[in-house]
Amino acid sequence: MKKKQIAILGSTGSIGTQALQVIEAHADLYEVYALTANNRVELLAEQAHRFHPAAIVIANEARYDELKRLMTDLPDVKVYAGAQALDDIVEATPIDIVLTAMVGFAGLSPTIHAIRARKTIALANKETLVVAGELILQLAEQYHTPILPVDSEHSAIFQSLVGEDDNPIEKILLTASGGPFRLKSMDDLQLVTKADALRHPTWDMGAKITIDSATMMNKGFEVIEAKWLFGVNASQIQVLVHPQSIVHSAVQFRDGAVKAQLGVPDMRLPIQYAFSFPQRLELSGDRLDFFAQPLEFFEPDLQKFRCLALAFEAIERGGNMPCIVNAANEIVNRGFLEDCCSFLQMSDIIAETMQRCTFSASPDYDTYVATDAEARRIATAMLKS
Ligand code: NAD
Ligand code: MG
Repeated sequence: MKKKQIAILGSTGSIGTQALQVIEAHADLYEVYALTANNRVELLAEQAHRFHPAAIVIANEARYDELKRLMTDLPDVKVYAGAQALDDIVEATPIDIVLTAMVGFAGLSPTIHAIRARKTIALANKETLVVAGELILQLAEQYHTPILPVDSEHSAIFQSLVGEDDNPIEKILLTASGGPFRLKSMDDLQLVTKADALRHPTWDMGAKITIDSATMMNKGFEVIEAKWLFGVNASQIQVLVHPQSIVHSAVQFRDGAVKAQLGVPDMRLPIQYAFSFPQRLELSGDRLDFFAQPLEFFEPDLQKFRCLALAFEAIERGGNMPCIVNAANEIVNRGFLEDCCSFLQMSDIIAETMQRCTFSASPDYDTYVATDAEARRIATAMLKS
């Protein structure tokens, strides 16, 4: 059988490196066609030496010469740079699957190009669906392009829906670890630092999503992601705080049956399932021990985790509002990591940006680009004031 050719956008990140482990473990089935990164040229070059892709792309053009130098001994690997090169590479004819594992709004354009080129999308970059879910779903339908979720919750929901054909979803039960600040009081939250926020209790992830998990904006984004992927209303999605991260999410059907996917927290499983669906492949690692710990479930606290409430508000308002929230969130997330704002200021700035940014009820691609830029400007100005 021909090996599936995979392009990884963001191969040097948390999802990207775990995807390479999956590919290495199933080298009989998968081959790397392209690898891309933003800045980390050394790691990208090292990966290229190990996996011999046809091409590699460094998004930050300033790092091109450095990367090129590191690749002189492998002249058959093509080296490109810049955002346009990302859009181009995903269209390469041999590619079967594009794993979108880069961070933020930057994932939108290459994902659109990959959909138009009819590549199966293994979607980790949830920001793409937050910003432009309606457009992405419409394009996927138009080009008959499958979008397979990599986010663990959405993979769990997807796995729970296998074999259900047209059985309608009554409710989605979206689980959340609650992050490192689950038990903190409002007073405590005034004082938490980025070091505290970067200590996630159950998952080891990139910095941006780890901060988003601490504010629970990540869960708000996942509600939006689920709404588009599974065609449900936000009112049909219930967030359950489940500190053990064992039940990865569940679906409730109209007869009251609830189907869930459980397992130890390990992103290699949802990554691998997006590659191999509908097959299941071997995966080495820990197995779930039901005797090890009790499984608990709590209601989320929307006062303490205002970002989650803001995400629900954005869904309610619709149009480009989720795009506004995403852009403002990218700014404050970076701002918090660079000590330019406090933990609680993040949601204040996002809420204010939602008020001030130009609203559009039926945005197209150009509206999203303009909205992203405007919301970033507004949020950045507040960060500096
Ligand atoms: P990360 O920060 O560890 O890695 C990000 C990767 O994207 C790196 O390779 C980086 O070089 C690249 N990148 C960043 N900005 C870029 C840009 N502007 N242009 C091109 N490339 C760029 O992030 P991560 O934790 O692997 O997360 C990646 C995506 O997957 C995010 O959208 C995140 O929400 C989602 N996700 C991650 C996890 C997880 O366990 N890490 C789980 C679910 C969903
Ligand atoms: Mg998730």
